[in-house]
Amino acid sequence: MSESKSILVTGGTGFLGSHLCKRLIHEGHRVICVDNNYTGSLDNVRDLLDNPRFTFIEHDIINPLKITESIDQIYNLACPASPRHYQGKASIFTTKTCVFGVINMCELAKQHHARIFHSSTSEVYGEPAVHPQPESYRGNVNPIGIRACYDEGKRCAESLLFDYHRQEGLDIKVVRIFNTYGPFMNPEDGRVVSNVICQALQGADITLYGDGSQTRSFCYVDDLIEGFIRMMNSSAEITGPVNLGNPGEFTVKELAELVISKIGGKHNLVYQPLPKDDPTHRKPDITLAKELLHWEPKVALSEGLDKTIVYFKTKMEGK
Ligand code: NAD
Ligand code: UDP
Repeated sequence: MSESKSILVTGGTGFLGSHLCKRLIHEGHRVICVDNNYTGSLDNVRDLLDNPRFTFIEHDIINPLKITESIDQIYNLACPASPRHYQGKASIFTTKTCVFGVINMCELAKQHHARIFHSSTSEVYGEPAVHPQPESYRGNVNPIGIRACYDEGKRCAESLLFDYHRQEGLDIKVVRIFNTYGPFMNPEDGRVVSNVICQALQGADITLYGDGSQTRSFCYVDDLIEGFIRMMNSSAEITGPVNLGNPGEFTVKELAELVISKIGGKHNLVYQPLPKDDPTHRKPDITLAKELLHWEPKVALSEGLDKTIVYFKTKMEGK
């Protein structure tokens, strides 16, 4: 087991953050979980609340944060992550979280001489003209579209991290996450994996946007969290950005059919308009993660979906 550290996790009551907090507590660390519960929920960390090594602080990272105890590492995950939650009325909040929030967390890291890890996204590649996407690809983002608050926000966040590194000597780690799924996803998030599973379990129509031919590469959450830990604890010269994701590429329709085949029953696929600027294809090139972190995903989509279906089924049955 690694030496016990004091670790602050923003976005800690969200999907990825709650898995990360559990993993860090399991490893013997002290965890300070910071979240405004915009899309997260204390239910996701319910089993940690009584742990003396776990503290929850309700806080919006758009505002500066003061922590008196020492901090060794900061994982900055706080940000709405699904189109339903970052667009529309939340778009300015999303950009503020990416910009003011990241400045505040970099300042906190500076005060504490802490290492900071930032969760960027494959969305920085926009509608990619290069496939699969290596980190060297600079992307093709619509700067004024409905996804821009998130895509450009995350691009600006990366730029801030690297300026803090160059200008202030901050110890930074940046990963670009590709679509990740698993237990503790928010069923109201509107993401394709949670939507399709919940619809199939409820015997409802399955919603496919566009003709369902767009592709995504789906990574199981445990694999991703292992990548986070390896990146955070890699040697200081590894700043990233490093892609983390599962290179297995599926059309959204293939995903829906796989879920239906597992859950059974007869389901209609209903086609709804493709949201504006929805990327047509996406697949990570993970050569760098393999080389630098000796990391690659181990859980195949079918196995990960089985675990996720069990989670949602249990949740729906109120267990
Ligand atoms: P999530 O919505 O479940 O978690 C985000 C958490 O951040 C929530 O608990 C939310 O309440 C909190 N939050 C949002 N804005 C905040 C603010 N201003 N101050 C404090 N807390 C705030 O989403 P997730 O899937 O767990 O995503 C976590 C991070 O990973 C995000 O930064 C997201 O952009 C990134 N990411 C996720 C994926 C994915 O497929 N899950 C892909 C790419 C990038
Ligand atoms: N999608 C879909 N049906 C749904 C939800 C999403 O067809 O019920 C599509 C969406 O248009 C996108 C893909 O699935 O092409 C992945 O969407 P998600 O929101 O999960 O992730 P992101 O768009 O951020 O990659």
